[in-house]
This record gives sequence, C-alpha cells and structure tokens, in this order.
Amino acid sequence: MNALTYVESGRFALLEKPKPELRSPRDAIVRVTLSSICTSDLHIKHGSVPRAVPGITVGHEMVGVVEAVGDQVSTVRPGDRVTVNVETFCGSCFFCRHGYVNNCTDPDGGWALGCRIDGGQAEYVRVPYADQGLNKIPDSVSDEQALFVGDILATGFWAARISDITPEDTVLILGAGPTGICTLLCVLLKNPKTVLVCEKDPARAAFVREHYPQVLVCPPEDCKAFTLAHSDHGGADVVLEVAGGADTFRLAWECARPNAVVTVVALYDQPQILPLPQMYGKNLTFKTGGVDGCDCAEILSLIQQGKLDTTPLITHHFPLSQIMEAYRIFENRLDGVVKIAITP
Ligand SMILES: [Zn+2]
Ligand SMILES: [Zn+2]
Repeated sequence: MNALTYVESGRFALLEKPKPELRSPRDAIVRVTLSSICTSDLHIKHGSVPRAVPGITVGHEMVGVVEAVGDQVSTVRPGDRVTVNVETFCGSCFFCRHGYVNNCTDPDGGWALGCRIDGGQAEYVRVPYADQGLNKIPDSVSDEQALFVGDILATGFWAARISDITPEDTVLILGAGPTGICTLLCVLLKNPKTVLVCEKDPARAAFVREHYPQVLVCPPEDCKAFTLAHSDHGGADVVLEVAGGADTFRLAWECARPNAVVTVVALYDQPQILPLPQMYGKNLTFKTGGVDGCDCAEILSLIQQGKLDTTPLITHHFPLSQIMEAYRIFENRLDGVVKIAITP
C-alpha cells in the first residue's frame, strides 16, 4: 500500500509498504477512507518533534472502515465506519480512569499514531486499544462531517469543556486557524453572551466573519482595546489561547479580567514568561493542554444532531497519490487553504 513516510528531518516521501497486520488482541486494522493534514505533521517534517520516529507513516486525522479486529476488541466490528482518535490510551490506568487520557501511562499512550507508530496518511492503519481509539460514525454522518472528530475537534471540545464558560461570559479566542475554529464552534455550544476572535491573517479573519457572523473579529494590535470595549468587567471572562505566536500568551492574560480562566491550547516553539509580579492580585486561573481526547462519542452525537459542522473547514481535496502537492499548498497556506481532505 501507499504510505506517506517520515524519511528524515525535512523530508516526507510516499512509499510502498506492506499492509499493517494485527499485533495484539486489542488492535484493529482500519481501511482509511479519508485523512487530513495537521500542523503537527509539519512539525514532524521540520524535525521539531524529537519523539517522532523516522520511517513511520505520518497522519493522525482520519476516518475509515474497520477491516479486522483482535479477539479482545468489543466495541467495533469489521465493516463499521469509525473515527480514529489521535491519542492512544489503555482505558484502565489511573489517568485514563479519571479522563486524563493524554497522560495514559501505557508505553504507547498519548500521541503515538503518525508520530511513534504508523499513522493514517495511507491506505490502512493499525489502531492499538481499538475499544478506546475508535468510535462508530452514525449512518447519517458523512466521512467529511466526521473527519476532524479525533483530533482538532476533540481539542476544541476539550478546551471549551475545561474553560467553565457561562451564558454571562465574554469569551476571547486567540487564533482562527483550524483548531481555533473548532474551539470557536465548541465555545458557541456553551452560548456565552459575547464571543470575540483575534486573528492576524486577513483571510482567516474573513473566513470567521463569513461563516460565523455572530462572532466579533479583531486583529492582535487592537485586541486589548477591543476586548475591553466588548466586556463588562475590564476584560474577557474566559480566554482561550489557540494561536501559539511569539506574543500571544502575554496577550491572553493581559486581555483577561481579574479572576478569569485562561486556557492555553496552543503549542509554542519557545518557552513563555509567566510574569507573576505583574499579575499579582489579578488572581487568574490557568489551564494548559494537550487534549484529553475522550469525548468523541459525544462530539459525533452533536454532529448527528446538526449542532456541530466542521465541513466548511475542508477547502481542498486531493487523492493520496498527490499528497505531496497537498502538503505544498497546506504548508505555504496557498489558495485560501484551511484543511485538506485526502482520499486513498
Ligand atoms: Zn493534529
Ligand atoms: Zn491509560
């Protein structure tokens, strides 16, 4: 089968590999029907994910059809359409039992697929702990509707869940990339009074204005004044930082009102400064990533009910045979790209 492979730092290549096989009674083999490219894949390509293993098949956003299951898999059967979770987790350790699946203590726990073990920018993928890693897609939900459930939509859902949003709140989201927009959609489910989005890229700001007209959008240079003007208590009640820029962590806490919640979803390239003397008395609560991806069944149900729709994010389609061209467009943000759907 064809599989996009992390050859060495700076280089991916579409290689011919053997089809994966079951290795454990808790594994499943999934025939990939649609996958996508994530910014994290670019981080692997650029060598900035040290734990990524050269030679692995990349890709951790995918949906497909179960082809085979091990003896101990009970929640899915061959023929089921499924979402695949970006995180591998055992379901039984201390962290899994508390819903903190990102910190599963299993050796394969956490982000393994498409990083430390073979992922899904390929025709088939082996999914360990399939009872935890796969969720059945309802018949009325399409592959495109379900494509982001296991990764960026799980992240947005988790971020909104832990941010304690109430209907009285002004919520500020920094960053309107694909994960920022998924976060926005999940924040809107909480019905806060006002939602503000800060985005520096005019094309992405325009995307938010076009698709979500109830949301107020501003550029970073206006963000503090804009937030002050649209909030009741001297800043946002909740800030979700999804931008990960050089100055956006600082912007996040500066735009927060006293006693606000600041949820940091972003992954930074550089260490950030937490200037406690300047913050003294502001009494902020910080919550930090990464995603505990254990809400996929609930997310699929919300999609089925028509309450969540990420299909506008899919701006481009490519066959797997042309995935290198898809990467060129995604990496260079050409042609108004938000997300690309890849068909094997
Ligand atoms: Zn990702
Ligand atoms: Zn675990």
